[in-house]
Amino acid sequence: ELDTISEKAASKGGGGDDGGSRILVFVRLRPISRKEREAGARCCVKIVDGRDVYLTEFATENDYLRLKRLRGRHFTFDASFPDTATQHDVYSTSTAELVEAVLQGRNGSVFCYGATGAGKTYTMLGTIENPGVMVLAIKDLFSKIRQRSFDGNHVVHLSYLEVYNETVRDLLSPGRPLVLREDKQGIVAAGLTQYRAYSTDEVMALLQQGNLNRTTEPTRCNETSSRSHAILQVAIEYHVKDSSNNIVNRVGKLSLIDLAGSERALATDQRTLRSLEGANINKSLLALSSCINALVEGKKHIPYRNSKLTQLLKDSLGGACNTVMIANISPSNLSFGETQNTLHWADRAKEIRTKAYDAHEEMQMPDSETDQAKLLLELQKENR
Ligand code: ADP
Ligand code: MG
Repeated sequence: ELDTISEKAASKGGGGDDGGSRILVFVRLRPISRKEREAGARCCVKIVDGRDVYLTEFATENDYLRLKRLRGRHFTFDASFPDTATQHDVYSTSTAELVEAVLQGRNGSVFCYGATGAGKTYTMLGTIENPGVMVLAIKDLFSKIRQRSFDGNHVVHLSYLEVYNETVRDLLSPGRPLVLREDKQGIVAAGLTQYRAYSTDEVMALLQQGNLNRTTEPTRCNETSSRSHAILQVAIEYHVKDSSNNIVNRVGKLSLIDLAGSERALATDQRTLRSLEGANINKSLLALSSCINALVEGKKHIPYRNSKLTQLLKDSLGGACNTVMIANISPSNLSFGETQNTLHWADRAKEIRTKAYDAHEEMQMPDSETDQAKLLLELQKENR
């Protein structure tokens, strides 16, 4: 019985013709903040019909027809959340189906992308009063496990890690940096805490504490670094009987990713290779952009090995996985450039097709730094 459910879940999603599926891309607009209003900011983003996003700066109100004809002013996504959307709206539209699929042994991942201050951590972690996607997903997972009368054998493990400046750290048990190793299941962080979770109640506190363990900017005490990526992985292990009544073990993995601020990676000014290297640009975020570019273009070689983040997320991007991107944007006209960049990037992410299955991917040699920087320059040109 489980096998047929699992097959159905696997064929869902975007439904590409090669058996793979499309990445689902969502946009979430956050409310204008008091600080922005006090700085004289106006709202320059309008969301229409739950899908269309218009950048209205320099346009008269409701001039959507004109904006549709302008380049980079109108975008459309699988769903776009206005600033009135609740955490629950975002969870149920973007992630609930992935949770269902993970319970049937299929991997899923959700990325939040956007500039610093655009609402990524709010969307992923949220607050005690308004918990975000990470917490709502785990809550839903436990309630679905409880509802299922046919099992009682699901075991849930959580791990929470950070990639900062190409160093991987355990957010549940801070200490020495972790080393990435390749094993049968892919790339793993050796020694990463696998926390066995029994209920939702303990999880929010655990994640809040983990978030406090994220690296802070040396110059800004108590403020989370905008260059830190946080990855929560939820592994659900269970067993089923196969057709000849043998017990087989299954694992479904859900990865929830709060990416570093995109502002540096997408800086659109022309830079030389040298200044790129010196600019302390987030290598992992650049590598993610390069991988997405290569995936979109259907390249055979995807440069996963260029960063810690892309190594860790290899199965989530190109493998058999349901993938969701949530692009977070600010409504302020003072952030117009960032918002446009984020929307452009999200628009491009719509083109990625994830593979249905790739068991025998060939091992690839690491790209040189120069190749990566070249790719980046190309990407930046495109983003202009
Ligand atoms: P990021 O992680 O992208 O840097 P944050 O999630 O920290 O941004 O959001 C910046 C600020 O805006 C925080 O104070 C956060 O609570 C607030 N915020 C973000 N999104 C929302 C939202 N949808 N509703 C209310 N407040 C939000
Ligand atoms: Mg954040």
